[in-house]
Amino acid sequence: MTFEPTLDFARQLDAQDPLHAFRQQFHIPPGPDGQESLYFCGNSLGLQPRTARAAAEQQFLNWQERAVEGHFTGNTPWMHFHERLTEPTARIVGAKPIEVVVMNNLTTNLHLLLISFYQPTPTRYKVLMEGGAFPSDQYALETQVKLHCLDPDDAIVELVPRAGEHTLRTEDIIAKINELGESLCTIIMGGINYYTGQVYDMAAITQAGHAVGAMVGFDLAHAAGNIPLHLHDWDVDFACWCTYKYLNSGPGGVAGAFVHERYADRPDLLRLAGWWGHDAAARFQMRKGFQPSRGAEGWQLSNGAVLTLAVHEAGLAMHEAAGGMEPLRRKSELLTGYLEFLITRLDLPASRLEIITPRDPAQRGCQLSLLVHQNGRDLFEHLMAVGVIGDWREPNVIRLAPVPLYNTFEDVYRVGEVLAQWASQ
Ligand SMILES: *Cc1c(COP(=O)(O)O)cnc(C)c1O
Repeated sequence: MTFEPTLDFARQLDAQDPLHAFRQQFHIPPGPDGQESLYFCGNSLGLQPRTARAAAEQQFLNWQERAVEGHFTGNTPWMHFHERLTEPTARIVGAKPIEVVVMNNLTTNLHLLLISFYQPTPTRYKVLMEGGAFPSDQYALETQVKLHCLDPDDAIVELVPRAGEHTLRTEDIIAKINELGESLCTIIMGGINYYTGQVYDMAAITQAGHAVGAMVGFDLAHAAGNIPLHLHDWDVDFACWCTYKYLNSGPGGVAGAFVHERYADRPDLLRLAGWWGHDAAARFQMRKGFQPSRGAEGWQLSNGAVLTLAVHEAGLAMHEAAGGMEPLRRKSELLTGYLEFLITRLDLPASRLEIITPRDPAQRGCQLSLLVHQNGRDLFEHLMAVGVIGDWREPNVIRLAPVPLYNTFEDVYRVGEVLAQWASQ
């Protein structure tokens, strides 16, 4: 598509957008002038679906009227509530229902899965991750390694971009996997790097990891609900994600986990157990001896956090109503492409501002990361002051993420105007 830098053009794209009406399904927070802000922060916290509050209130009502009986009665017995989310979740990440479960929070799930999928031996103990991963992932890895009485500096290998580059090349990731060979126990990377917005080639990484005998997992915090995923077909061993970013399921909301079908009937696979992961048919017999449920549900610990599960159901329903990831992705490529077009046409020298997110749409999702070399923090504060909500990541990156469910081409055009004004000063 040939983009044009005019408000008319942006409005024309909105008029042609089959997903345009979904914006009305979300609460758009007001900016400083009391009008709707330009919200470009769905990569950090997705907006509230208008249906979310009623979904939670329904469960407050069930609690009020049914109390303990709510576990077994009503339209949505709490005992089975998590199962309501299995199929839509499987569609989001490209999995079979047996492979996914919604539970806990992201970092908790990462730890639970690493217990099973990072089992080092004296010779195979290295874990490969991207350098500068989200800090929670770094801390999780560091402490998992220590749990096995290993030295993080020795066991954790970090991938870093080539000198002068901001993102990783797949060929370099694969070369590192081959170099580590039989010493490599586990690969755990983001599906999309939170800082640069780069999408990693999960299929190629998984294949290369398996070829040297390693387990391969992904943290999909920035990928779930943002790009199409095919975890089952890519043969990924394990994955986890949060739901409050692109899945619009509320701050600190419940998270997801994926365990490939080949482990569905592996009760011998080491894990940390709780009663909710026990074979559901025998769970209430309260007997000694843990027998896991089949599939990802066998990693559950506790009974479901119904209030956040209910909100997550409302968030997932938005994706379902929009027709799933394919139409969302189509719009997303255009929206982000338009933002890129408007920034590129400012023709700023790289010494002032660079887009560090890959230019190839296949290697990115919604987000563009702007590396601002001079007075980045001033630009960020200016954006916030005029009602553009992005986020700032130290030392000097502004992330902007137009989200296809609720952002418009006009939003993108207006952000472009603000940046153009700043650039001309
Ligand atoms: C957002 C994010 C987290 C946050 O972890 P929580 O356990 O949900 O607080 C962790 N890792 C990555 C890669 C993220 O993007």
